[in-house]
Amino acid sequence: MTAIVVSGMRPTGRLHLGHYHGVLKNWLALQENRECYFFVADLHALTTHYEHPEGIRNSTWDLLVEWLAVGLDPEKAVLFIQSWVPQHAELALLLGMMTPLSWLERVPTFKDQQEQLRDKDLATYGFLGYPALMSADILLYDATEVPVGADQVAHLEIARELARRFNSLYGRTASDQAAIEAGLQALGKKARRNLEKLREDYQREGSPQLLAQAQAIVTDAASISEVTRSLLMNYLEGKGRSILREPQVLLTAASKMPGLDGRKMSKSYGNTLGLREEPEQVRKKLLTMPTDPARVGRHDPGEPERCPVWPFHQAYSSVETQAWVQEGCRSAGIGCVDCKQALVEKVIAEQAPIRERADYWAARPDDLRQIAAAGAQKAREKAAQTLARVQEVMGLDVH
Ligand code: SF4
Repeated sequence: MTAIVVSGMRPTGRLHLGHYHGVLKNWLALQENRECYFFVADLHALTTHYEHPEGIRNSTWDLLVEWLAVGLDPEKAVLFIQSWVPQHAELALLLGMMTPLSWLERVPTFKDQQEQLRDKDLATYGFLGYPALMSADILLYDATEVPVGADQVAHLEIARELARRFNSLYGRTASDQAAIEAGLQALGKKARRNLEKLREDYQREGSPQLLAQAQAIVTDAASISEVTRSLLMNYLEGKGRSILREPQVLLTAASKMPGLDGRKMSKSYGNTLGLREEPEQVRKKLLTMPTDPARVGRHDPGEPERCPVWPFHQAYSSVETQAWVQEGCRSAGIGCVDCKQALVEKVIAEQAPIRERADYWAARPDDLRQIAAAGAQKAREKAAQTLARVQEVMGLDVH
């Protein structure tokens, strides 16, 4: 089975080193040995930034420029813009028909984001429904794996649950359905009522105890055949023929690149170093970074593990330089300015070719459009196959 990976990024501003070390380096490795679909999630950006369409338009192209600049290759991975593949919106709508409201409301980010982005009105249908759109993004391409950090596993769970629910609702043949109905009848009225209630509660809440209680009713039923018993077991769990593939989590290591103040690198903290930052800015930002508070003066020894500069050395400096930092910091043999200077040149050197390639692509909007169009064409071909399967089983006589 070919490993298929799907992942997207929202176009809400230029990328910084947190994105580069946390996401893009991972994508670069994935494009070498998997079928990859990487998309600019412009529809997702609208769920929170619907009042700023200009920003989305500009950031969409910036993102594509930066992807190409770091080495994502349209010959190796399908690079496209989400809204250019209308199947994303169509599948999201169709999934929405069978997505329980409670599943959307319990997604952890729903309330968190509403809290965090208080300046925006996020009491919208689009924002509530974004997990259905995100599920559509993944399920359209038969993804086998979705790269996520440990803190995002819950986001993928809804896509997996929706695939299961969809397959349960639409993935049964008429004869399977008839056998299930006969099996339910054979249980008797009271047991059937209990079973249906437990199944409903389990599918809504996902509690293994509810499933175990429901399974016990099926196991204890004497009046049904083994085939029917197994069909009923699948029915309880919401399993059926697989029309939508349930993707697996591809756990990615958390980015070791903190922000300039030691917290997570994030635009909202104002502690980022941009992927395309001008060398003078890089120098200025790195030289003014806070250091280990123990190094009050030049002659106070410090501890790299307590210093936000150290993870930068780990990402950019040679083993020899790292040893020099460790020794010099702990013995107060070097000053923080010396330590940072050594880093500044490395960061600027690594960014130079990225900036150069970004300038190259930014000056070629027509070529960018062509790359986006070719990617969207490939994506549409794959997505159309999934959508056709979905439309057929949902009773839409489109084809
Ligand atoms: S010498 Fe380097 S690692 Fe040590 S506190 Fe200063 S900047 Fe941080």
